[in-house]
Amino acid sequence: MKDNVRALAAEFKKFLSTRQEDDLTPAAFTQAAAHVSEPARTHAETEQQDHLTIEFARASKKQTSSHCSATLSTVTQETAEKEQNGALNESFSQETATTMSKAEKQALLDQIAEEIKACHRCPLGATRLNAVPGEGNPNATLMFIGEGPGFDEDHKGRPFIGRAGQLLDKMIAAMGLKREDVFIGNIAKCHPMVNPENPEAHGNDRAPNAGEIAVCRKFIERQIAAISPKYVVALGGVAAKALISDTNSLGALRGKFHLLHLDSVELKKPVKIIATYHPAALLRNPNWKKDAWADLQMVMAEMGLKRPQG
Ligand code: SF4
Repeated sequence: MKDNVRALAAEFKKFLSTRQEDDLTPAAFTQAAAHVSEPARTHAETEQQDHLTIEFARASKKQTSSHCSATLSTVTQETAEKEQNGALNESFSQETATTMSKAEKQALLDQIAEEIKACHRCPLGATRLNAVPGEGNPNATLMFIGEGPGFDEDHKGRPFIGRAGQLLDKMIAAMGLKREDVFIGNIAKCHPMVNPENPEAHGNDRAPNAGEIAVCRKFIERQIAAISPKYVVALGGVAAKALISDTNSLGALRGKFHLLHLDSVELKKPVKIIATYHPAALLRNPNWKKDAWADLQMVMAEMGLKRPQG
């Protein structure tokens, strides 16, 4: 048993040393540990208490042995074997994406989705009912990215299908688009729960913590690289901070375009990203809808979209 653990540790350190940028940092996991011990936060608290000072993955270039041991417990033997085989370590470029047909992109997205469904790289994999890879148009010009699946998404394996998802559908329709025109996903692919032992409980959602984001974000980054959108809308402060790589509050980030930041993919063609309120937050605070609509109108102006009549 000890030999197995030592071998796994050696493989995991080797895997870490091959990363171009650190996606599993001591800072992230220190923050994660602190965050896990916090009382559960609702989405509204997440939106309103935008004081997370998460140092995201690229902040640290150093790996330490204590870091390896801290993360080792979350990585299963099966996953380590996949890392060893390079199954999760492929790289894609925007150039590659632009030469791919829609069918080829769909095949690539399907492959990434299969990896997500088999993934147990973080503890969320042990408690999810279904992984939620995301869905939509492989050739989408616009992607909507939230923080993580909730109750309904966990039960069905599809993103944004509960009440918040229905509001997102209306927001997309107001832009003159259909759900099938865009790609919808989350940074964390499995349901973060306040009480992971009770996935059948409503009101059990929480935002993914920094450690979970650091481990899972590779998937959304590969999806972005495969789709190669021109615009991203980050839904909520957690997604916005991770994808803009800025620890400012959502209030400070929204209302203007930023450049998308990815840890594992170099973006040779800049992708514009705008941050706005998560639809779940808009359901709780309808007075924020005006600001969210203003954010979406900025995207519409960039894309040359007009609001449908009637
Ligand atoms: S949340 Fe992401 S990293 Fe964690 S188990 Fe699910 S797919 Fe894997």
